[in-house]
Amino acid sequence: MSLIRLSPHVVWMPPGPPDRPSLCAVTGERGTLMLDAGASDAHARLFLEGLGEMGIARPRTVALTHWHWDHVFGAAEIGAPVICSALTAGELQRLANDDWNDAALDARVESGEEIAFCADNLKLELPAPRHVRIQLPEMIFERLLTIELGGVTCRLQQVGGDHSADSVVISIDPDGVLFLGDCLYDDIYAPTRHYTTAKLFPLLDKLDQINQPQAEIIVEGHVPEVMDHAAFDSLIGRFRLIGGLANQHPGDEAAMIAACMTISHGELSEDDAELIHAFASAPRPKD
Ligand SMILES: [Zn+2]
Repeated sequence: MSLIRLSPHVVWMPPGPPDRPSLCAVTGERGTLMLDAGASDAHARLFLEGLGEMGIARPRTVALTHWHWDHVFGAAEIGAPVICSALTAGELQRLANDDWNDAALDARVESGEEIAFCADNLKLELPAPRHVRIQLPEMIFERLLTIELGGVTCRLQQVGGDHSADSVVISIDPDGVLFLGDCLYDDIYAPTRHYTTAKLFPLLDKLDQINQPQAEIIVEGHVPEVMDHAAFDSLIGRFRLIGGLANQHPGDEAAMIAACMTISHGELSEDDAELIHAFASAPRPKD
């Protein structure tokens, strides 16, 4: 798959099956920074080949948005030092200590440490027998790191959220690109996938602060199109609206649906219904 040029300094490989996330390369006068490392050696190699075809220098460093397998398993194949947050570093150490054969994976799904969604996709990406190499980071930051690549600057900022507490977003200027990773997604490591306003609202506030001036191109981990700032604003607005309803009607899906339909003149989109369900599925304090 060839890469897509998003801006003067940024190229993108869109997400693909089975669960490969977006990867980007940011190239300045001093070299290339890769954003997320890919789901496997094969995924990483595909990205490196795409860079080669475009005449772009191989990554000098790799920055990770969070610890999930599909974003980090390709790092060893890139052959460049890894940069990540302290929270991500701790999780990578845990992954490095784990066994990744089918029996170990199945046992972790059984015990609830792993989820079937990840185990199933991992088996598709890396059929047995598999050899997983976890590349531990060389550079670890707390909350915020700025990387100057020469003519282009990347700001890495930890934002957290329901999906993963270690989530980091990367803003790239002057290109006006915001690389979100999976930060806006739901909590998948829970008995029921869900959102909470306790985690989502602080994340949205941080994104508002970070996204100044507003990025023109927003890249998500698993969405095959980039967003412009109008689409991003509308997504954030939807999260705030439905999150607000969740705060008014905690755990009451029917009441949230009724309130949402009143606001939107009797209509309920599939996206809104899904989001309402995800908020209604949040564990309640007394549960
Ligand atoms: Zn993730």
